[in-house]
Order: sequence, then structure tokens, then C-alpha cells
Amino acid sequence: MSNVVLITGASRGIGAATAIKFAEHGCAVCINYVQNKEAAEQVQSRVESHGVKSIIYQADVSQSKDVESLFENCAKYLGTPNVLVNNAGVIAPQTNLFDLTEQRINSLLTTNVTSTLLCSKQAALIMSELKGGCGGTIVNVSSKASVTGSPNEYIDYAASKGAIDTLTKGMAKELAPHGIRVNGVRPGLIYTEIHKDAGEPDRVDRLQDRIPLGRGGYPEEVAECIFWLASDRSSFTTGELIDVTGGL
Ligand code: NAP
Repeated sequence: MSNVVLITGASRGIGAATAIKFAEHGCAVCINYVQNKEAAEQVQSRVESHGVKSIIYQADVSQSKDVESLFENCAKYLGTPNVLVNNAGVIAPQTNLFDLTEQRINSLLTTNVTSTLLCSKQAALIMSELKGGCGGTIVNVSSKASVTGSPNEYIDYAASKGAIDTLTKGMAKELAPHGIRVNGVRPGLIYTEIHKDAGEPDRVDRLQDRIPLGRGGYPEEVAECIFWLASDRSSFTTGELIDVTGGL
């Protein structure tokens, strides 16, 4: 697989593991981050240890100007991307409906949903075979929360992931004639720092007994599925959402 892969939110967690997975397979990787440059640099050195090219690029992917310059710089230094992984996402402290604020809801939806639409639009513009591009694949990182709804924890976050499931289906059908496949993964409880942002760093350990496989998941296990969906091995798969949850 010789590709240029753009991964949003690749400085930590699932995005970082995905960057390293693609590098292991010989792909050039554009590592996006929003504030944690040091973490992005660490991922870059692990990516480049596999002998591939990479760049790190700071961009808030919920902002269209940032998204445009992210894609421009990826194309300039690595070549036109033919894989986009919409991974960047945030959560907010656990609470219930009564304590949700306008500011929190809008900020979360913008970061999780607007970003995915903006990046996908930019990718489609350059990948579309009908517009002179070479085709490509998009993989969206949703969450099993889109199915459970996350009551009394973060229904706004769960709803943002419901939107990711829906736009994955719509984009897959819309972009199929353009030579672009679109799929998604729905991770369950994965060991990353996101749970700290929700106010419970040990959430995965607390809930692991509910997981049929009896443990939390690792970012590398999600990355494996993302890689498969982005690669030619899944050439007849589009509009699908694969759960990576240990059976939850
Ligand atoms: P994480 O460890 O908290 O990492 C989040 C990443 O997103 C970081 O690289 C962060 O960059 C980046 N980011 C945040 N806001 C951004 C923005 N506006 N623009 C660009 N980058 C931004 O999270 P994670 O657990 O790996 O989550 C990755 C994805 O998986 C998310 O979409 C999340 O909803 C989903 N997910 C996670 C789990 C889980 O259990 N961990 C389960 C289901 C779904 P900085 O380092 O610069 O802050």
C-alpha cells in the first residue's frame, strides 16, 4: 500500500496508533494536532522510524481555514492524500441533560461533527475521479456511544457520534460515483486519555467487567480496523460501520 494518509487528531490515542499503523505499511503520514505539539513530534519520530515521510501540522479541524491549509500542506510536502481518517474528537465532563449548556453542546458538535464534514469535503474535492482526482477512502471514527446514547454521562457526545454514523452512510452513497469509499469504526472502551477529559481517567477499568471479552481495548486494535477499511483489502465495502468493542 503506497499512500498519503491524512489523520486528524493524530498526536495521541487512537489517531497516534493509526499513524504508526499506516507507517508500518509504508504510507506517508500527515499528523494533525491542535495544541499538543510535543506529542505530535513523538508520533512523528515513531512514524519516521519506519522509513516513511511525514509532517506534523497544527490545525483546528472545526475551522474551514485551518482545514484548507492542512490539506494544502499535506499535498505540498507529502503529495495529494488518498486516505483521510476523521479521528479528531472531544468529550466533556460526565453530566445529565439538565446541566448541558449551549456553549458546551455547540462546542462539542462543532469539534466532532463540523470537522468531519469540512475535512471530508476537502478530501472529496481532491480525490474525486469525476473532478480529475484519483479516488480514495475516508474512514470516520464514531463510537459505540452512538448506539447506547450514553445516558447520564454525555448524551451530547453520543449524539455527535450518531451524526457521524449518519453522515458516513450518506457520504458513502454520494461519493461512490466519485471513486471514494467511506466507512466508519465504532470503538467501545479504549485505553486513551479521552476519559480523563470526561472526568474519569479509570473509566475503562471500572466498566471492563461488562465487556464480553473481559477487558478494555487498545488504540492499536482500533487502528487495525481503520487500516483495513482504508486499504484495498476492503475494496467492496462502503457505507459500513464496524464495532471495535470486545463484544459490547
Ligand atoms: P484522545 O486521546 O483524547 O486524543 C484526541 C486527539 O484529537 C488528540 O490528538 C487531539 O490533539 C485531537 N483534537 C482534539 N480536538 C481537535 C481539533 N479541534 N482539531 C484537531 N485535532 C483535535 O482521544 P481518543 O480516545 O484517541 O479519541 C479519538 C477518537 O476516537 C475520537 O473521535 C473519540 O470520540 C473516538 N472514540 C474514543 C473512544 C475511547 O474509548 N478512547 C471510544 C469511542 C470513540 P491534541 O493532542 O493537540 O490535543
